[in-house]
Amino acid sequence: MTDKEATVEKTLESSPTLESEINSARINALELKLETLSLITESLWNIIQESDLECSTDLKENMADIIDQRAKRDSIKVTCQTCGSDQKASTSYCNHCGNKLDYSGEISPFDY
Ligand SMILES: [Zn+2]
Repeated sequence: MTDKEATVEKTLESSPTLESEINSARINALELKLETLSLITESLWNIIQESDLECSTDLKENMADIIDQRAKRDSIKVTCQTCGSDQKASTSYCNHCGNKLDYSGEISPFDY
């Protein structure tokens, strides 16, 4: 653990309100992501139903491809500007302190 991480952890321990606010912000972010994913899924399902694709086969192959793509994206790391911890570039918020991560590289709209 770095000095910065220790400081953040100590601050959180002594400030339950701050920890509560961070958790609240995380829950709000997760709800927004869930809503976005639900919208994307329903839209894709409508597109699939309007096409003549062999849905079950194509869906399984696509899921396997996406799992590979996500593993590659997850290997890209960014450093949180607030606490200095290394985070996956595919996440929008630091898992350690909840700060919004600033990554300018190319990320899929499905990353969260
Ligand atoms: Zn952080």
